[in-house]
Amino acid sequence: MTVILDGKTLSEKILDNIKQKVSNLNSKPGLAVILAGNNPASEVYVRNKEKQAQNAGFNSSVYKLPENVTKEELLNLINKLNDDEKTDGILLQLPLPKHLAAYDFLDKIDPKKDVDGFHPINAGKLFLNEKPYAIPCTPKGIVRLLDEYKIQIEGKNVVIAGRSNIVGKPLSALLLNRSATVTIVHSKTKNLPEITKKADILISATGKKNMITKDMIKKGAAVIDVGIIRDENNKLRGDVDFNGVKDIAGFITPVPGGVGPMTIAMLMENTLELHLLNKG
Ligand code: NAP
Repeated sequence: MTVILDGKTLSEKILDNIKQKVSNLNSKPGLAVILAGNNPASEVYVRNKEKQAQNAGFNSSVYKLPENVTKEELLNLINKLNDDEKTDGILLQLPLPKHLAAYDFLDKIDPKKDVDGFHPINAGKLFLNEKPYAIPCTPKGIVRLLDEYKIQIEGKNVVIAGRSNIVGKPLSALLLNRSATVTIVHSKTKNLPEITKKADILISATGKKNMITKDMIKKGAAVIDVGIIRDENNKLRGDVDFNGVKDIAGFITPVPGGVGPMTIAMLMENTLELHLLNKG
């Protein structure tokens, strides 16, 4: 029997726990989200983050900037939030409008307010296994989900499809720090199925529908689907051909209801942790 890794239920448990902790604090954690431009998917993500932050009892602010915002205006806002005592976590929603480069801004966020863990200091600490101020939310959520279901990481072969700075690379460091044997594959990798078939844990973060099919899976493997794709009927899909893969995998995440809600829960957890770091 394949076990469905239920990120929705686990995330609700984590969020309830955070809410409870916040209700016992003298001050509220503050999350500031910067949304530049009008990317429809980003607008949905930001609305959801704001809702969950309010639910958890945080001070939540969304700063909306126009598509043609200048580099100087965005830097001014980041500086203002770096100095704002009520703000514990600053999240710069990506992607930015085309004329702006994310890494001109991510390294201007105070590392102790870098709730996404994308600042080079936090990325560096993660790769050095030296306790970052925050760990990127999606990788952190994936590891939490594996731990919840007692899926062993140490000594296991993990294959990650995708090498982005927000998912694949930080996830590889996190799992290496947990003593997994990690392989990253990407669009230039040759003989992909040969590699994925060796995975005890296969994590796909490519954004390509049906990238992962049953012939690529080792029997009993844990298959984690990070992809979020809207299909022709506007339904959410992942990278994995769920119906084909589910009978071969030992564990599998659904889309929606797997990694997505865990990412949001980890964002709230990071905000609370930064609040305790800055004010505790
Ligand atoms: P990204 O920056 O576009 O990176 C995609 C990666 O997939 C790249 O490294 C790319 O390789 C690789 N790739 C593309 N086609 C491939 C192929 N045919 N075979 C092997 N590798 C291939 O994407 P991202 O930001 O990491 O996001 C990936 C997906 O996860 C998206 O669908 C995104 O919406 C979703 N996501 C979900 C969550 C969540 O909470 N569930 C969070 C973040 C992202 P190259 O480097 O060679 O181009």
